[in-house]
This record gives sequence, structure tokens and C-alpha cells, in this order.
Amino acid sequence: MASQREFVRVEDGLPPFYVGVDLGGTTVKLGLVDDRGLTIAWDSIDTEVQTGPEDASRRIGEAVRRLIQTARVEPSAVARVGLGSPGTLDIPAGIMINPMNFPGWGAFPIRDRVAEHSGLPVAFVNDASAAAYGEFWVGSGREFQSMILLTLGTGVGCGIIIGNLIIEGEHGFGTECGHIVIDFGDNARMCPCGHSGHLEAYASANAVIKRTQEALDSGRPSSLLQRLAHGATLSPLLVAEEAEAGDELADQIVMDTACYLGVGIVTLVHTIDPSGVLLGGAMTFGVRDSKLGRRFLRRVQQEFRRRTFPVLAEKTKIDFATLGGDAGYLGAAGIARLEHEKATCPDAGRQLTRDREALV
Ligand SMILES: [Zn+2]
Repeated sequence: MASQREFVRVEDGLPPFYVGVDLGGTTVKLGLVDDRGLTIAWDSIDTEVQTGPEDASRRIGEAVRRLIQTARVEPSAVARVGLGSPGTLDIPAGIMINPMNFPGWGAFPIRDRVAEHSGLPVAFVNDASAAAYGEFWVGSGREFQSMILLTLGTGVGCGIIIGNLIIEGEHGFGTECGHIVIDFGDNARMCPCGHSGHLEAYASANAVIKRTQEALDSGRPSSLLQRLAHGATLSPLLVAEEAEAGDELADQIVMDTACYLGVGIVTLVHTIDPSGVLLGGAMTFGVRDSKLGRRFLRRVQQEFRRRTFPVLAEKTKIDFATLGGDAGYLGAAGIARLEHEKATCPDAGRQLTRDREALV
């Protein structure tokens, strides 16, 4: 899906500026963003996890400086960096806690090292929270007062924004909504976290692959069998393609995924009562651009509505996220902006507005 981020020329940018950094397992995305969340310039570098956090912090710091220099922005006009990092995090300490895909990176003071190398203060945030704040600030959550973002990928990630408050939790485990229980039966599916019955065990990309494989192994007819026989790899994309082409089993897998998400969303909405819930990540079945994506969304909405209160069924919006892979750096920049406002004007946090006109 094409991102709906918006660009602005440097001479039209509204200072102060922020650099949002989205630290991923293979790529680090960086964006220089103005005070309204408009992107002036962006770049990406390889993460090179194996070279370790010391080297990566240095390269990230250099990339931040380079981005500012190349865009011809006065360095003093850049207020802060926002660093979105895979969780779980010890946010006050500025470190990752046992990062699964970043062996050897735990306990390393990544926030402070990036600050040293970039020469700027760094706001440290969970990557799912950053993506949620990106959608809240300048994406499809911009009309919301509060929202939940579920990211559907290898796992199920989550970010929750209430006003300008980013839910992080007492121990850094806030918004681990991929691990809410949707099935407590004896035959509940095992989640990669080691517990059973969690949403992620049903609605992640890995879960879709597993459920499809099980259905095929049980002898269900499907056009997927021909695709696999011709060398295709079983993936959510392949399932989506065959569902679009009319395969019954593939369609059922996609709609069951929507149903599990709808059940999970009921629990989240009954806890938070947000303005809306957004679905993002790599596994969104073509979003609104495809017939399957639209049916998937409708199925999520239906399942939610039949299990919730009438007022919530009518008023809670459930939709796709729109910023795609750019939500992370945009949100990290937005959270840097929040921290800057709070640091420079303690009362500003409460009054800070997302409204572009009001800021000009
Ligand atoms: Zn789990």
C-alpha cells in the first residue's frame, strides 16, 4: 500500500523540526519532520544487527546529522530525535529488554548513545506506540481523541493513544494486546510467547500460515494446493490471492482471521472505549484498495458489533491505518515533539493540538 504521508519543501516547513527514527530488524528509517508532521526529507540505512548496538548507534547518529545537513535545515532548528525501537523496553533507562531479534543488544544504553552521536536529545519509545502515534497525529486516526492501532505482521503488535498520552505501562509491557486471551479452552492454540489462547496465536501472519497448512493437511480441497505444487510459498499474500480468485478455503481463512480480530477488539474497546481502532501492518489483505480487504474489514466490524453494546457498535470506528511503513518514523517524530513541548513548557502537553491551522 502506498503511504499517505505528506511532504513539504524545507522553505515551507514549520519549525521546530524533529527527526523520527524507526529501528527495524533489517532497516532503520529516518524522517525529518516539521511541527505539523509534514515530511521534509527521509532516508534509510541497513540495521546490520550483527555488528552490534555500538556500531548501529554511531551509524544512526551519523544518518540523523546527514539528513539534517542534506535537507539544508539549520541544526539549531531541530529540537529532538524520536527513536522508535522494538519492545519490550525499559523506557526510563533507555534500553531494550531481552530483544528477541536483536541478540546482544539488551542492556545497551541505545537512547543515550544515539543522543551522543546525533548531538540531539532523544525521546525513546516502543515502535508499536510510535506507529500508533503516527496514525493519531497525521494518519487515519487524526480525527480521533483516543485510539488503538493493531499491527498485523509476523506477530500482532499494538499501540494505544489516549489524548496525548501514550500507554506504556509500569514495566514496559503496556499494550501487549497481541497477547490478550481470546480462547481459554484446553485446545487453544499456542502463542509464540509460550502461553495459549492469545490473539497472536490466531490472527498473526504466522497463525494464518499455520491454520491454512492444518486445513490443507486435513484434506480440504483448495486451489492453494496447485500453487504450492508449482513452487509457491505458503504466505498470507498467497492465501489472499487465492481468496480473491474465489477459493473457498483461502477465503474462509481470511474471514476467520477477521473474526478472531473482532473478538479481540471487543475486549480492547470494552477496556478503553476509544474513538477508533485501526488495523495496520503488512497483513491487511489489500486494505480498501481490494475487494478482499474491504470484506475483511467489514467482517471485523460485524464480529465486533455483534458482541458489543449498541452505543459502541454504532460509534466506535474500525478502519485501516493509512501511513503504511512510514507510521513509525512519523510517530517517533511526533513523540519527540511531545517531549520537547513538555520540556520547554510544562503546561503545553495538555494544550498541544494536532490541528495544523491552530499551530500556524
Ligand atoms: Zn502470547
